[in-house]
Amino acid sequence: MDLTWMQRGNCREHPPATFFPSDGVGVDRARRICESCPVREPCLEYALAQHIDHGVWGGTSERERRRILRRRRSGQLTGVS
Ligand code: SF4
Repeated sequence: MDLTWMQRGNCREHPPATFFPSDGVGVDRARRICESCPVREPCLEYALAQHIDHGVWGGTSERERRRILRRRRSGQLTGVS
């Protein structure tokens, strides 16, 4: 699996704990960093493929990733909303 995208993420310039928030305010803060990240898509796909339960990846919270996986399993369109 190609993980070179990790070297280009916006999160390199922030403490790792930023992306493992304990509340909704922290999730929003991490999401804002992800918004302009050039590797948002591979980051999200990695988290989905690896079933990563914790943290903000690709601009999504754990709950959002569970929702995306449910949609994919049920054959609906993919994406974040
Ligand atoms: S999308 Fe967010 S978590 Fe993923 S690499 Fe970019 S900044 Fe980091």
